[in-house]
Amino acid sequence: MKVIGHYINGEIRQDSTRTQDVYNPATGGISKQVALASKTMTEEAIAAAEAAYPAWRNTPPNKRAQVMFKYRTLLQENSDKICALIGEEHGKISHDAAGELQRGIENVEYACGIAELLKGEHSRNVGPGIDSWSEFQALGVVAGITPFNFPAMVPLWMYPLAIACGNCFILKPSEKDPSVSLLLAELLSEAGLPDGVMNVINGDIEAVNTLLEDERVKAVSFVGSTNIASQIYAKASANGKRCQALGGAKNHAVVMPDADIDNAVNLLLGASFGSSGERCMALPVVLAVGDKAGDLLVEKMQAAMQPLKTGVYTDSNNDFGPVITKEHQQNVFAHINSAEQQGAKIVVDGRDVKVADHENGYFVGATLIDNVTPDMSSYQQEIFGPVLQVVRVNSMQEGMDLIDAHEYGNGTCIFTRDGEAARYFSDHIKIGMVGINTPLPVPVAYHSFGGWKRSLFGDLAAYGPDGVRFYTKRKTVTQRWPSAGVREGVQFAFPS
Ligand code: NAD
Repeated sequence: MKVIGHYINGEIRQDSTRTQDVYNPATGGISKQVALASKTMTEEAIAAAEAAYPAWRNTPPNKRAQVMFKYRTLLQENSDKICALIGEEHGKISHDAAGELQRGIENVEYACGIAELLKGEHSRNVGPGIDSWSEFQALGVVAGITPFNFPAMVPLWMYPLAIACGNCFILKPSEKDPSVSLLLAELLSEAGLPDGVMNVINGDIEAVNTLLEDERVKAVSFVGSTNIASQIYAKASANGKRCQALGGAKNHAVVMPDADIDNAVNLLLGASFGSSGERCMALPVVLAVGDKAGDLLVEKMQAAMQPLKTGVYTDSNNDFGPVITKEHQQNVFAHINSAEQQGAKIVVDGRDVKVADHENGYFVGATLIDNVTPDMSSYQQEIFGPVLQVVRVNSMQEGMDLIDAHEYGNGTCIFTRDGEAARYFSDHIKIGMVGINTPLPVPVAYHSFGGWKRSLFGDLAAYGPDGVRFYTKRKTVTQRWPSAGVREGVQFAFPS
């Protein structure tokens, strides 16, 4: 069986001492194995990155950008191949995989402007004959640890910008869908990136701990579940590394009594069930304001869900695919069971869905649960499945209090026709990314992505302007060139 290796110094490296099965979630069968990097193999990647750093750091930004321009073209040319790999290992339907890749490519486009982004700040005559400037220098070797749910996009949030800034990169992708990263790295070499600047280490906690403990690694970007994110942040910080660790989510939509319910239902369908709900910006909770809006929403949502189709990634008529593993499928079922046992009403039940010829695939049908209350575990925890829960509230403020009280603070949205209410909501809500009549407010590549509360540990969000700051450190230089023959006087007072 094929063993997926690593990509170090421009070469695929095999290392099959420890391996893990990789499944095709649509069939439930083992399709490949992935090598789990040892400490020694991970250190080899760090050494390759460190060796490549001096030359890459000194490569002019516009030359680094040329690699990114070429890379963008190669990603577009290879999109079918990339999307097929995403489908095979993640289960995402081809149209959804194409959307993910496109959002990833937009980060490469942003990185193409690196010469402009690194221009720095200059002040002339800050004192007599003195000029001062701030520049943004690369950090050195930096690492990214990524989740299963966006095997192309989340890595693309990180390494194009980090590399364009002059760093060398080590990516540790999810062991559940590891192949895409290797292809992405190979294409970067084809675009002209020198060997060692981009490396991929497949693996588990052993590789992650090596990256967190090695002092040659200067910064770590992490995206994954909150418990792991908080551990990674604590460990990386304790080891003196810069760290941004993005965690889980439980995004709520508020549906106001004046909302265009038909529009809200259409938009919620994709936001709640797209990619089987396995998105950190998915919308698994609706707060319906008032019984009338709640009843109408549930009735229309129930009807709109009837034609939804879950199935295999190769058929683009399907709306969404399976969840990632058998264990995760059982976990989603357990959440639906517990909501039912705790008194919620299952309006549309996705527990019995069957996909022809794929009886062992990890499918969960779209599920709608009404009368969910905040004390239920299905409300409190991230389900990460195609399950939409409706909580009835009496006012926007009651809904906002619930959102603010939740441990996660990634995204939220409000559906309303009232501009004043929308403005109040976006101004006061304690959430990092807010949508108004738009359910998936994922920032474009030239803004930055990050939640609040336990959805992001660290000060700087991912990609965009924050990404440039994260992958560089500021240096401020103050310079005086006295005219020939001019002697400076001795001065003991603090220079002012
Ligand atoms: P995960 O936390 O299980 O894994 C993420 C990464 O951490 C993987 O590379 C994995 O190998 C590694 N890892 C797992 N356990 C580890 C451990 N004990 N020590 C060190 N490393 C470990 O997350 P996942 O299941 O792959 O992804 C789903 C989660 O990611 C969800 O919670 C989702 O909300 C979150 N997510 C968040 C964002 C965001 O931007 N906030 C984006 C995508 C996904």
